[in-house]
Amino acid sequence: MTVTISQAAFRAIVDHSQSQFPLEACGLLAGTNTTGQKTVTQAIALPNLAQSRYRFEIAPQDQLKAVLAMRKLGLTPLGNYHSHPETPARPSVEDLALFVDPSASYIIVSLAERLPVVKCFNVGQGENPFSEDELVVNKEI
Ligand SMILES: [Zn+2]
Repeated sequence: MTVTISQAAFRAIVDHSQSQFPLEACGLLAGTNTTGQKTVTQAIALPNLAQSRYRFEIAPQDQLKAVLAMRKLGLTPLGNYHSHPETPARPSVEDLALFVDPSASYIIVSLAERLPVVKCFNVGQGENPFSEDELVVNKEI
């Protein structure tokens, strides 16, 4: 599957991840989902309740507030993002325990290399615990 993301949202996710280094950053993804084609147009940065280098936790009230704000703008919640300050961009065991929504997209930013690596995953489709989606950055939106 392909997930499209606006350049502004992509940049916001990377900037937020770098600003929180060496802690994990996290937030929600908002946009549109028409006939299965997801387009992320906004990244909503949220505090990492865990304040950890290895895991993230979004407070339920922060999540609820963000989702209500999205809906007000006519946007659809599409999933979440978080950073891996020191490890590769693939879901950890802890992540897979949190990634329970098969309709959600999960973006992970790795800051372990010189340049950020950004990947998008989904869960619960097929035999594998997760699979990677192609993330396409669109400068026009
Ligand atoms: Zn993680």
